[in-house]
Amino acid sequence: MNALKEKIRHEMRSLVPRRISSLGHAQLIAERKATLLVKLLRIPRIPIDVFAVAEALQIEVEMRPRYLMANVSGRTVCSAQGGNILINQNATLGQRRMTLAHEIKHALDDDLPSEVFSNLGHGNDDVRSDLIEKTCDHFAACLLIPRKILRRAWSSGIQEPQALADLFEVSTSAMIIHLQYWGFTNEKPKPPRHYFGQPQLKTVDPAWITATRRKWRSEARRQEPCPMAAQGDRA
Ligand SMILES: [Zn+2]
Repeated sequence: MNALKEKIRHEMRSLVPRRISSLGHAQLIAERKATLLVKLLRIPRIPIDVFAVAEALQIEVEMRPRYLMANVSGRTVCSAQGGNILINQNATLGQRRMTLAHEIKHALDDDLPSEVFSNLGHGNDDVRSDLIEKTCDHFAACLLIPRKILRRAWSSGIQEPQALADLFEVSTSAMIIHLQYWGFTNEKPKPPRHYFGQPQLKTVDPAWITATRRKWRSEARRQEPCPMAAQGDRA
Protein backbone atom coordinates (compact mmCIF):
# COMPACT_ATOMS: atom_id res chain seq x y z
CA MET A 1 0.00 0.00 0.00
CA ASN A 2 1.50 3.38 -0.95
CA ALA A 3 1.84 6.20 1.59
CA LEU A 4 -0.98 8.36 0.14
CA LYS A 5 -3.45 5.49 0.05
CA GLU A 6 -2.52 4.53 3.60
CA LYS A 7 -2.94 8.14 4.79
CA ILE A 8 -6.35 8.44 3.06
CA ARG A 9 -7.60 5.14 4.48
CA HIS A 10 -6.39 6.12 7.96
CA GLU A 11 -8.03 9.56 7.84
CA MET A 12 -11.25 8.10 6.41
CA ARG A 13 -11.44 5.56 9.23
CA SER A 14 -10.87 8.29 11.82
CA LEU A 15 -14.13 9.95 10.69
CA VAL A 16 -16.22 6.85 11.33
CA PRO A 17 -17.77 6.35 14.79
CA ARG A 18 -18.20 2.90 16.35
CA ARG A 19 -21.82 2.86 15.24
CA ILE A 20 -23.80 4.90 12.76
CA SER A 21 -27.31 5.35 14.04
CA SER A 22 -29.43 6.76 11.22
CA LEU A 23 -29.48 7.71 7.55
CA GLY A 24 -28.89 11.37 8.48
CA HIS A 25 -25.86 10.38 10.55
CA ALA A 26 -24.52 8.17 7.75
CA GLN A 27 -24.97 10.98 5.21
CA LEU A 28 -23.11 13.42 7.45
CA ILE A 29 -20.13 11.03 7.70
CA ALA A 30 -20.31 10.41 3.93
CA GLU A 31 -20.17 14.13 3.21
CA ARG A 32 -17.19 14.57 5.53
CA LYS A 33 -15.42 11.68 3.81
CA ALA A 34 -16.03 13.12 0.34
CA THR A 35 -14.83 16.58 1.42
CA LEU A 36 -11.72 15.12 3.05
CA LEU A 37 -10.96 13.03 -0.03
CA VAL A 38 -11.06 16.10 -2.29
CA LYS A 39 -8.79 17.93 0.19
CA LEU A 40 -6.26 15.09 0.62
CA LEU A 41 -6.02 14.52 -3.12
CA ARG A 42 -5.69 18.28 -3.70
CA ILE A 43 -8.29 18.23 -6.46
CA PRO A 44 -8.32 21.85 -7.56
CA ARG A 45 -11.24 22.14 -9.94
CA ILE A 46 -14.43 20.74 -11.36
CA PRO A 47 -15.39 18.48 -12.96
CA ILE A 48 -13.85 16.26 -10.32
CA ASP A 49 -11.63 13.62 -11.94
CA VAL A 50 -13.30 10.62 -10.30
CA PHE A 51 -11.12 8.17 -12.22
CA ALA A 52 -8.03 9.84 -10.71
CA VAL A 53 -9.61 9.37 -7.27
CA ALA A 54 -9.94 5.63 -7.93
CA GLU A 55 -6.34 5.51 -9.19
CA ALA A 56 -5.06 7.32 -6.09
CA LEU A 57 -6.83 4.75 -3.94
CA GLN A 58 -5.35 1.98 -6.13
CA ILE A 59 -8.80 0.71 -6.95
CA GLU A 60 -8.90 -1.04 -10.28
CA VAL A 61 -11.72 -0.01 -12.58
CA GLU A 62 -12.98 -2.41 -15.23
CA MET A 63 -15.52 -1.57 -17.89
CA ARG A 64 -18.21 -4.06 -18.92
CA PRO A 65 -20.76 -3.90 -21.73
CA ARG A 66 -24.35 -3.45 -20.61
CA TYR A 67 -25.27 -7.01 -21.62
CA LEU A 68 -22.89 -8.35 -18.96
CA MET A 69 -24.04 -5.98 -16.20
CA ALA A 70 -27.59 -7.38 -15.83
CA ASN A 71 -29.48 -4.17 -15.04
CA VAL A 72 -26.83 -2.68 -12.77
CA SER A 73 -24.64 0.34 -13.47
CA GLY A 74 -21.73 -0.84 -11.35
CA ARG A 75 -20.48 -3.35 -8.84
CA THR A 76 -17.61 -3.58 -6.36
CA VAL A 77 -15.68 -6.80 -6.01
CA CYS A 78 -13.73 -6.41 -2.78
CA SER A 79 -10.35 -7.99 -2.22
CA ALA A 80 -7.45 -7.70 0.23
CA GLN A 81 -5.71 -5.40 -2.25
CA GLY A 82 -8.55 -2.85 -2.17
CA GLY A 83 -11.03 -4.19 -4.64
CA ASN A 84 -12.10 -3.88 -8.24
CA ILE A 85 -14.95 -1.80 -9.51
CA LEU A 86 -16.94 -2.89 -12.54
CA ILE A 87 -18.73 -0.14 -14.46
CA ASN A 88 -21.36 -0.38 -17.18
CA GLN A 89 -19.55 1.17 -20.15
CA ASN A 90 -22.80 1.87 -22.02
CA ALA A 91 -24.25 4.16 -19.36
CA THR A 92 -24.05 7.92 -19.95
CA LEU A 93 -20.94 9.81 -18.84
CA GLY A 94 -22.83 11.35 -15.91
CA GLN A 95 -24.07 7.92 -14.80
CA ARG A 96 -20.61 6.36 -15.16
CA ARG A 97 -19.07 9.11 -13.03
CA MET A 98 -21.75 8.85 -10.32
CA THR A 99 -21.54 5.06 -10.32
CA LEU A 100 -17.76 5.07 -9.96
CA ALA A 101 -18.00 7.56 -7.07
CA HIS A 102 -20.76 5.43 -5.45
CA GLU A 103 -18.66 2.27 -5.77
CA ILE A 104 -15.59 4.06 -4.34
CA LYS A 105 -17.60 4.55 -1.14
CA HIS A 106 -18.34 0.81 -1.00
CA ALA A 107 -14.62 0.10 -1.49
CA LEU A 108 -13.63 2.61 1.21
CA ASP A 109 -16.09 1.07 3.68
CA ASP A 110 -15.06 -2.48 2.92
CA ASP A 111 -12.57 -2.75 5.79
CA LEU A 112 -14.86 -1.21 8.43
CA PRO A 113 -16.11 -3.50 11.22
CA SER A 114 -19.60 -4.79 10.39
CA GLU A 115 -20.96 -3.33 13.66
CA VAL A 116 -20.56 0.21 12.26
CA PHE A 117 -23.73 -0.20 10.20
CA SER A 118 -25.46 -2.74 12.43
CA ASN A 119 -27.94 -0.22 13.88
CA LEU A 120 -29.07 1.02 10.50
CA GLY A 121 -32.47 -0.40 9.61
CA HIS A 122 -33.15 -1.52 13.20
CA GLY A 123 -32.38 -5.15 12.47
CA ASN A 124 -34.05 -5.26 9.06
CA ASP A 125 -31.33 -6.32 6.57
CA ASP A 126 -33.24 -5.06 3.52
CA VAL A 127 -33.76 -1.64 5.06
CA ARG A 128 -30.10 -1.52 6.13
CA SER A 129 -28.91 -2.38 2.59
CA ASP A 130 -31.21 0.27 1.15
CA LEU A 131 -29.89 2.93 3.57
CA ILE A 132 -26.28 1.98 2.79
CA GLU A 133 -27.01 2.41 -0.94
CA LYS A 134 -28.57 5.82 -0.28
CA THR A 135 -25.49 6.79 1.73
CA CYS A 136 -23.20 5.77 -1.16
CA ASP A 137 -25.35 7.87 -3.54
CA HIS A 138 -24.97 10.82 -1.20
CA PHE A 139 -21.21 10.32 -0.97
CA ALA A 140 -21.02 10.23 -4.78
CA ALA A 141 -22.97 13.48 -5.09
CA CYS A 142 -20.85 15.17 -2.40
CA LEU A 143 -17.65 14.03 -4.13
CA LEU A 144 -18.65 15.17 -7.61
CA ILE A 145 -20.60 18.26 -6.54
CA PRO A 146 -18.59 19.80 -3.68
CA ARG A 147 -20.91 22.03 -1.67
CA LYS A 148 -18.61 25.08 -1.60
CA ILE A 149 -18.14 25.06 -5.38
CA LEU A 150 -21.88 24.50 -5.92
CA ARG A 151 -22.62 27.46 -3.67
CA ARG A 152 -20.19 29.63 -5.62
CA ALA A 153 -21.75 28.61 -8.93
CA TRP A 154 -25.26 29.21 -7.56
CA SER A 155 -24.29 32.65 -6.20
CA SER A 156 -22.75 33.60 -9.53
CA GLY A 157 -26.14 33.05 -11.17
CA ILE A 158 -25.82 29.54 -12.61
CA GLN A 159 -29.03 28.07 -11.18
CA GLU A 160 -30.51 25.93 -13.95
CA PRO A 161 -30.16 22.24 -12.95
CA GLN A 162 -29.18 21.32 -16.52
CA ALA A 163 -26.47 24.00 -16.65
CA LEU A 164 -25.14 22.97 -13.23
CA ALA A 165 -25.22 19.30 -14.24
CA ASP A 166 -23.14 20.15 -17.34
CA LEU A 167 -20.70 22.13 -15.21
CA PHE A 168 -20.13 19.31 -12.71
CA GLU A 169 -20.53 16.52 -15.32
CA VAL A 170 -23.29 14.68 -13.50
CA SER A 171 -26.78 13.70 -14.59
CA THR A 172 -29.49 16.35 -14.28
CA SER A 173 -31.51 14.09 -11.97
CA ALA A 174 -28.53 13.71 -9.60
CA MET A 175 -28.06 17.49 -9.64
CA ILE A 176 -31.74 18.13 -8.85
CA ILE A 177 -31.62 15.72 -5.89
CA HIS A 178 -28.48 17.40 -4.57
CA LEU A 179 -29.88 20.91 -5.01
CA GLN A 180 -32.97 19.87 -3.05
CA TYR A 181 -30.86 18.25 -0.34
CA TRP A 182 -28.92 21.45 0.30
CA GLY A 183 -31.95 23.70 -0.12
CA PHE A 184 -30.77 25.57 -3.22
CA THR A 185 -34.07 26.84 -4.54
CA ASN A 186 -35.62 29.88 -6.15
CA GLU A 187 -38.89 29.46 -4.28
CA LYS A 188 -40.04 32.40 -2.22
CA PRO A 189 -39.33 31.99 1.52
CA LYS A 190 -42.26 30.48 3.40
CA PRO A 191 -43.30 31.26 6.98
CA PRO A 192 -41.83 28.85 9.61
CA ARG A 193 -45.32 27.32 10.23
CA HIS A 194 -45.21 25.86 6.70
CA TYR A 195 -42.33 23.56 7.68
CA PHE A 196 -44.18 22.02 10.63
CA GLY A 197 -47.61 21.40 9.15
CA GLN A 198 -50.79 21.67 11.14
CA PRO A 199 -51.04 18.72 13.55
CA GLN A 200 -54.47 17.13 13.57
CA LEU A 201 -55.52 16.55 17.16
CA LYS A 202 -56.45 12.96 17.77
CA THR A 203 -58.54 11.45 20.53
CA VAL A 204 -57.44 8.04 21.75
CA ASP A 205 -60.19 5.50 22.30
CA PRO A 206 -59.70 3.63 25.67
CA ALA A 207 -60.88 0.42 23.94
CA TRP A 208 -58.05 0.80 21.41
CA ILE A 209 -55.52 1.15 24.30
CA THR A 210 -56.83 -2.04 25.96
CA ALA A 211 -56.78 -4.02 22.70
CA THR A 212 -53.26 -2.81 21.83
CA ARG A 213 -51.95 -3.66 25.31
CA ARG A 214 -53.40 -7.18 25.00
CA LYS A 215 -51.81 -7.60 21.60
CA TRP A 216 -48.35 -6.49 22.84
CA ARG A 217 -48.56 -8.88 25.83
CA SER A 218 -49.53 -11.86 23.68
CA GLU A 219 -46.72 -11.06 21.20
CA ALA A 220 -44.21 -10.77 24.06
CA ARG A 221 -45.39 -14.16 25.46
CA ARG A 222 -44.96 -15.73 22.02
CA GLN A 223 -41.36 -14.46 21.82
CA GLU A 224 -40.36 -15.76 25.29
CA PRO A 225 -38.68 -19.20 25.12
CA CYS A 226 -40.77 -21.99 26.61
CA PRO A 227 -38.89 -23.44 29.66
CA MET A 228 -40.06 -27.01 28.88
CA ALA A 229 -38.88 -26.72 25.29
CA ALA A 230 -35.51 -25.44 26.52
CA GLN A 231 -35.12 -28.53 28.79
CA GLY A 232 -36.08 -30.75 25.89
CA ASP A 233 -33.43 -29.14 23.73
CA ARG A 234 -30.74 -29.93 26.27
CA ALA A 235 -31.71 -33.58 26.57
ZN1 LIG B 1 -24.13 0.37 -4.06
